[in-house]
Amino acid sequence: MKRAYNFNAGPSALPLAVLQRAQQELLDFRGTGMSVMELSHRSKEYDEVHNRAKQLLKELMNIPDTHDVLFLQGGASLQFSMVPMNFLTDGRVGNYVLTGAWSEKALKEAKKVGETHIAASSKEENYAYIPANESIQLSEEAAYLHITSNNTIFGTQWNEFPDADTDLIADMSSDILSREIDVAKFALIYAGAQKNLGPSGVTVAIIRTDLLERIPENLPTMLDYRTYSTSNSLYNTPPTFAIYMLSLVLEWVKEQGGVGVIEKRNQEKAGVIYAAIDESDGFYAPHAKKDSRSLMNITFTLPNEEVTKRFLAEAKERGFVGLAGHRSVGGCRASVYNAVPLEACEALAQFMKEFPKYFG
Ligand code: PMP
Repeated sequence: MKRAYNFNAGPSALPLAVLQRAQQELLDFRGTGMSVMELSHRSKEYDEVHNRAKQLLKELMNIPDTHDVLFLQGGASLQFSMVPMNFLTDGRVGNYVLTGAWSEKALKEAKKVGETHIAASSKEENYAYIPANESIQLSEEAAYLHITSNNTIFGTQWNEFPDADTDLIADMSSDILSREIDVAKFALIYAGAQKNLGPSGVTVAIIRTDLLERIPENLPTMLDYRTYSTSNSLYNTPPTFAIYMLSLVLEWVKEQGGVGVIEKRNQEKAGVIYAAIDESDGFYAPHAKKDSRSLMNITFTLPNEEVTKRFLAEAKERGFVGLAGHRSVGGCRASVYNAVPLEACEALAQFMKEFPKYFG
């Protein structure tokens, strides 16, 4: 069996051990004579999977008792709407830091619900950096401050989160569980699972429970965070298989030694690719400014379109998948989420060093 060097931006690589375990358990999940997909979501066996996933996330992320973990659907994109519907209330103002296409989308949905304010932005430099915390200017009557902790398309990432004078809400879709964070700093964290957590289909939200009291009464049931909180995310049929896969990924993170160990590995992985960029005498030009570089999505351009095409074609020949950049940045992007092994990053860095000599 040959596994690809998978640099997809999401859905993306999953740990091999997780896939193998899912394969082993597929036809007969722990003596039930059926797969997890076929279990009732009200069964004892499924309940264990569900609660184990929740408990592991709490443990691995050190989530304090003030916060609850919810499993939702609709991707991070539905959170762009749910956040303002639940919290942009009482005539207050939704504050947004614009650091890329995903924060723009979050803002666009909030505008449909209430008043918004751009608290900081790096749009004028094609989102090549994260604005300094000192430059963030909140509006009067701020309902919350929304940030995107890692910008999947532009390849930038927050180092230090702002000490906002309001509730901090973060879209962590593309860097949740990749580094240690202080959850207590956030009123709400949300993430689609399909990068570091598992397959697509489940969205994780970590919410400080006092926020639930602010939610207006008339929201559609499925768009109200309280529905998930009061039912242990079992009000209706949850995405059971995706949550099962999430539980296996979390077991894997625990077996690796936890988020701290993963974080160090991520630094090393991204380090070898950034080194290939920095040591290329400008052949590879990084998109992100140095102090804003993402450890998850590494974006760079090549001298011209023709060379880029050639690079991608040669890369494909060598088994590297998913390296084409997003059209808004151009060039290439290597997404090196938790499950991408160091070996794949080293192989890519090696190829990046050789390519200019032979093909550039
Ligand atoms: N936010 C970020 C930072 C993302 O990377 C993505 C997906 N790539 C989204 C939101 C949208 O997520 P979904 O497809 O789960 O709606």
